[in-house]
Amino acid sequence: MFGTALSQLRYGMAVLRNGRIRPRDLERISRDLVATLAEFGEPGADSALLPGQAGAVDPAVRRTVTERSLRATARAAARHTAYYRRTFDELGLDPGTLTPETWDRVPVTPKSALRALPAAFVSAASAPALMALTTGTSGTPTTVWFSRAEVEVSIAMSTVSAVLGMGLRPHHVLAYAGCSRATLPLVNVEESVTRIGAAFVQIGTVDPAVALDRLAAPLGLRGKAPQITHLTTSASYLAALVEEAEQRGWDAADFGLASIGVGGEVLSDPLRERAERALGARVSTSYMMTEAVPSGGTSCDEGHLHHTAEFGHLEVVDPVTHAPTPPGGTGIIVQTPYVPYRDCTLLLRYATGDLVRRPEAEPACAMAHLPATSPVLGRWSGPRSVETPTRSLLTLLDAERDVPQPARYAIEERPGGPLLHVLVRRLPATALRGRLEERATALGLALVGIVPHDDPATMPTTGPVRADLREHTFEAAHPAPVRLASPA
Ligand SMILES: [Zn+2]
Repeated sequence: MFGTALSQLRYGMAVLRNGRIRPRDLERISRDLVATLAEFGEPGADSALLPGQAGAVDPAVRRTVTERSLRATARAAARHTAYYRRTFDELGLDPGTLTPETWDRVPVTPKSALRALPAAFVSAASAPALMALTTGTSGTPTTVWFSRAEVEVSIAMSTVSAVLGMGLRPHHVLAYAGCSRATLPLVNVEESVTRIGAAFVQIGTVDPAVALDRLAAPLGLRGKAPQITHLTTSASYLAALVEEAEQRGWDAADFGLASIGVGGEVLSDPLRERAERALGARVSTSYMMTEAVPSGGTSCDEGHLHHTAEFGHLEVVDPVTHAPTPPGGTGIIVQTPYVPYRDCTLLLRYATGDLVRRPEAEPACAMAHLPATSPVLGRWSGPRSVETPTRSLLTLLDAERDVPQPARYAIEERPGGPLLHVLVRRLPATALRGRLEERATALGLALVGIVPHDDPATMPTTGPVRADLREHTFEAAHPAPVRLASPA
């Protein structure tokens, strides 16, 4: 246990003095946590000191740490990347003089810049080891290069959060039902789950019927739970699983699931409740994007999304003017992941496009020491995306059993305002339309009307979702019993 205390102390000192944290320090912390788990069955009381779990820090200390982290990150970016060398040269800006108050002199980096020339953001002082592509449901995927050291940092963080956040223990079995090309999440989850001593199953985004069969199948393994206990997936693929379970008459008791973690897309409250009923597991969400790793957000009991402050700098700004969003206002998340947690692809004030609302008042919840926003409302694509955000539309549609999941919809601009087209199970849908119109008004959605369709071909194009990244298999969804060769 001395080792644990020592590496934690070193971690704490390094954060406060903004010293270099070697990946093996973080590696050590995560391995010590796993060793504690193996020995005592539970993490130690000192785990409050672990990365991502740090409690309240004095505001003056926090400001000093922020300033040093911003300067160190800006200096590395200006010195070692083509994109930021040019930016700072053109502005005649010295990265070493920046403060949290003057940080907005650094221009916001649009997603399109990273997409167009990923190599211009890669530090010349780093050794790129892994190319992570975002799944890119919004268009061209974004490329982010990571060094081996960054992958180690990310796995260590993932291990700590699986033990302390998800409550993963060695007898658990976790299945990943996300796109198999999402390289970084896959590497992270496979390595951290097995490091803890739990078991890992890669399901991918196969036919939901195949996925449910696999979740329900008895494992028959000594020392492991009888069925898969944890599931990690996207919101739209969870919706596809809920649809299959509800329509095919699966019962929550058919599964051994305790916990489902959802990320990458907006998860509405009605879908969360339906999934908890259909699959019999607690559903939780977190916010993590490849470009900002290891910075991320966790939901609290009061419905805020709280963002880690140790690993990066978070801003909420106007999507067009980039002016800071006032309390109560809606803006996009802009992230600056810090050096030394990042050393390969360096990003300053990166515009994620993710829309959030800032709380009206300072939160008073258990996680109030961490910056808070609303959950992600959707993605910025113009003023309409703020007036009729994805979250409100999904809250409207996901509550209705007559709307097949994942909900397919499109907004059409009409002179009087937006018209909502929705794919429903069958027409006529007079009662359904009445209910939707009533609830749309209650949700503050200023629609001029709702048009139900029973054929996708009659609808305007609907937006892509991750569940559309379907992987084919040779398995039949409901396989015939295996016939064994009878003895002659
Ligand atoms: Zn909160």
